[in-house]
Amino acid sequence: MSLLCAEDPNLLDTFDANGLTFLWHPALSIETGAEVRRLLERCLSGEQRLDILCVEGSIPRGPRGTGRYHMLAGTGRPMLDWVRELAAVAHHVVAVGTCATYGGVTTAGENPSDSVGLQYDGSHAGGVLPEAFRSGSGLPVINVAGCPTHPGWVVETLLMLENGVLDQDQIDPLARPRFYADHLVHHACPKNEYYEYKASAERLSDLGCMMENLGCVGTQAVGDCNIRPWNGEGSCTRAGYPCINCTAPEFEEPHHAFTETPKFAGIPVGLPTDMPKAWFMALASLSKAATPKRIGTNATSDRIRIPPQPKAKKP
Ligand code: SF4
Ligand code: SF4
Repeated sequence: MSLLCAEDPNLLDTFDANGLTFLWHPALSIETGAEVRRLLERCLSGEQRLDILCVEGSIPRGPRGTGRYHMLAGTGRPMLDWVRELAAVAHHVVAVGTCATYGGVTTAGENPSDSVGLQYDGSHAGGVLPEAFRSGSGLPVINVAGCPTHPGWVVETLLMLENGVLDQDQIDPLARPRFYADHLVHHACPKNEYYEYKASAERLSDLGCMMENLGCVGTQAVGDCNIRPWNGEGSCTRAGYPCINCTAPEFEEPHHAFTETPKFAGIPVGLPTDMPKAWFMALASLSKAATPKRIGTNATSDRIRIPPQPKAKKP
């Protein structure tokens, strides 16, 4: 559903323009039943070339490793087996969304269905496919993580693969494409001015930065969510909700409420990536002391209370 929001151009026009033939998708294709089973068989036999296999959702391995909690209707075989066999004949394999990449929300808690991601079980390498798996292209599973994942990330990944420009150097250590994983959600967040002065929101509707009190981990989460907004203009933090690091393995179990910042002695436990704690503390106390009244007041309000004042002209 997120992918259908791809714009300028839309998904199907993009595929047409780049010579990608859309073989099948359970929600977007008209083929069902026997037609799909025949298509899958032709992929396995090599009669139909399978350039890119995209998998959505985590894969249940239960009960007892059989995968029979999730059968592919009409085939008498579990999805677990289908995915393993199709991955073995695909030139590229792409996991779409954090469930397919690392397990995601369906693996939270006791995970009774024993679900895992395609090539990861949480942050541990090895899922439905072993750590050593390489598709026909020689690449591991490409992890387009995100919950949901950004339509632009999926389309760009597919086009890069199609054009042979997504190689091992273009993916990060968790196999996420670097074109989005080299950014932090914090980059271009509209609350950056509040962050600079540690002017913090106290409630979700407040304008201030959500790191200190409301659980935002945008300074640690990878993603260009604020550089490449969703649907042309949105992002979690733009909408006033903290970034919960949905592009990372095990984000689903932070061990505290998503909208709370865990603290030790009043200091947030999770500090920005690359920043030594002592520096952060020194900068934070300095910037808090220097917070302009405008920023401090607006931070705990749901609208601008004090607008920026133009500088008085010199006489
Ligand atoms: S709300 Fe989050 S992403 Fe935005 S400035 Fe604050 S820490 Fe950064
Ligand atoms: S802002 Fe954070 S939680 Fe929201 S989509 Fe981006 S990475 Fe995921």
